[in-house]
Amino acid sequence: MGEVWDPARGVVLREVAGSSVAEVDAAISRAVTAYEKWRNVSAGDRARVLRRFAAVVDEHLEELARLEVSNAGHTIGNARWEAGNVRDVLDYYAGAPERLTGRQIPVPGGLDVTFHEPLGVVGVIVPWNFPMPIAAWGFAPALAAGNTVVLKPAESTPLTALRLAELADQAGLPEGVFTVLPGRGDVVGERFVSHPAVRKICFTGSTEVGIRIMAGCAAGVKRLTLELGGKSANLVFADADLERAAATAPYAVFDNAGQDCCARSRILVQRVVYDRFLELLEPAVRAFRVGDPADETVEMGPLISAAHRDRVAGYVDEARVAFTGSRPDGPGYWYAPTVLLADSTADRHWREEIFGPVVSVLPFDDEADALRLANDTEYGLSGSIWTRDVGRALRVARAVEAGNLSVNSHSSVRYWTPFGGMKRSGLGRELGPDALHAFTDVKNVFISTEE
Ligand code: NAP
Repeated sequence: MGEVWDPARGVVLREVAGSSVAEVDAAISRAVTAYEKWRNVSAGDRARVLRRFAAVVDEHLEELARLEVSNAGHTIGNARWEAGNVRDVLDYYAGAPERLTGRQIPVPGGLDVTFHEPLGVVGVIVPWNFPMPIAAWGFAPALAAGNTVVLKPAESTPLTALRLAELADQAGLPEGVFTVLPGRGDVVGERFVSHPAVRKICFTGSTEVGIRIMAGCAAGVKRLTLELGGKSANLVFADADLERAAATAPYAVFDNAGQDCCARSRILVQRVVYDRFLELLEPAVRAFRVGDPADETVEMGPLISAAHRDRVAGYVDEARVAFTGSRPDGPGYWYAPTVLLADSTADRHWREEIFGPVVSVLPFDDEADALRLANDTEYGLSGSIWTRDVGRALRVARAVEAGNLSVNSHSSVRYWTPFGGMKRSGLGRELGPDALHAFTDVKNVFISTEE
């Protein structure tokens, strides 16, 4: 039995039994059986079931959102967006089965066609920071392409995934097509990796565990998508709209209490406007509303656990603090938004993913210096560029080694555009028009027309 906590109150919400290896094996076997039928469901019917699943999620948005507020401490505004994102991702990929077309390639002596064949059983392993969207980014395209799915939520945040499995059932997904298996990473997750019938792993989580999973997948030449850590840069050039850049910077890193792989946790500011930027940033950070995540006006809730809060605090204890925002007293794993001044790129808080509401600031001299500093990281997930010079915006966007960049904004995720990391931030892309291909293998068939 694993205890599931409410991080805003520091109390146990529920006990959830962890699945054993035998239970995982039994579920995979049911998924193998279900696959034979599901892959042969006509494209139109598969699309219809997924649209129904999206509609049932839509009918339960508020319930799902409230569940996430209590289990993950997400603000109610964010949690509603997240539940809506599950619906939208399902709707988007419900349009895919009928469009999963192959190609006809000119060859002599016959007809050559390609098919995008489903892989079989796909194992989706989800972290605790965005339990609903990250689950859907895996299961929706996997199901649309004709695979069956076994999904492991994080041990600390299984409640919304378990509810989504019930909603899938209600929507009419056949038994064994989508199974949620709560439990430990080193039991359930590792069994997904080692089980020969699981043909692909879709993993989101830490780089450390991702490396281990990649090694495990090598043995079975198992397909793999990895969405891993990040330490993204927010580059502010002197010609930018400084007021907007400073007003939005807190949202780019403190959203979800900084427990966001895309958090812009390194702010690089051109030296000539560095002092002015910090002057503008300070009131924005102090005004950031931290508190009960169920309160409609709150912008940031607690951290996921006491242990995680201690880990975050460890980075701040050894650093130069510029200023902080506020946090509530009392039970719950609260941490105030915090701005650190980096002395050099060697600082631990500058290099490592803190995964909390902490941002480090460093000045740069010119464009070349900005790029050198931004790319001096093992990660490459996202980033922002603030400038009014369109040429510079494009040059810098092309030169920053990261998978998702935004200019004069901090957006990273739209379900209809590709998402994923470069370098040690990951492998492969989720979402967007091409994600389906990551859940299929191309088959080439030649048909002779010789007499
Ligand atoms: P984590 O410790 O790597 O855990 C992620 C998932 O893997 C959990 O379900 C975990 O189970 C499971 N797991 C742990 N050990 C395993 C093993 N040996 N084999 C198979 N599965 C195993 O990461 P986290 O702390 O939950 O999440 C935070 C990390 O995720 C951060 O680094 C963040 O940047 C990254 N992240 C990346 C993206 C992206 O899209 N790039 C998005 C969100 C988060 P348990 O719950 O039992 O530990």
